[in-house]
Amino acid sequence: MIIEDPEFGEVIVRRNALARSARFSISTSGRLQMSVPKYTSDRAVRKFLNYSRSAIRTQLPVKNPTTQRARDAKKKLLTKQARAELPYRLEYLATKYSYNYDKCRLSHANTRWGSCSSNRTISLNIGLMKVPPVLRDYVILHELAHLNHMDHSPAFWVEVAHHDPNYKDHRRKLKHFSPGVD
Ligand SMILES: [Zn+2]
Repeated sequence: MIIEDPEFGEVIVRRNALARSARFSISTSGRLQMSVPKYTSDRAVRKFLNYSRSAIRTQLPVKNPTTQRARDAKKKLLTKQARAELPYRLEYLATKYSYNYDKCRLSHANTRWGSCSSNRTISLNIGLMKVPPVLRDYVILHELAHLNHMDHSPAFWVEVAHHDPNYKDHRRKLKHFSPGVD
């Protein structure tokens, strides 16, 4: 359920079988999230929200509704750009260096640029559309190298260096960016 709140904007309410009491947190979009026990009535949810208003104001970094919507728009645009670019770039580099992956997924995690799972699925963060193409390629080559080495062992880095001799510089430069949609 989503409550349209004049102060906090859209508040995401999750009814959770395991919750014993109501808890507040912040979603990645900066929206207020409420987790409540499964059978809490809508009325009780609103009452608790009102009761907690001043505590939320001082303790949680809820973004204002305009910022929340601006972030939605940014995320939508990045997703669109990522869809048009990342799967094809991955395919190109994999073909060029003879890697076989199974699937490409787009992610929007706040902390990781990419990942490679044991079932050979490569996830690439839509935030890669914010960084220069050469750093994007580094991340893709990094994840492809994980198909052969599921760790960051010296052998893994030798393989990365083989396809991206400047990987150390790229890795350092990437730290100036954050994968999340700001
Ligand atoms: Zn890695």
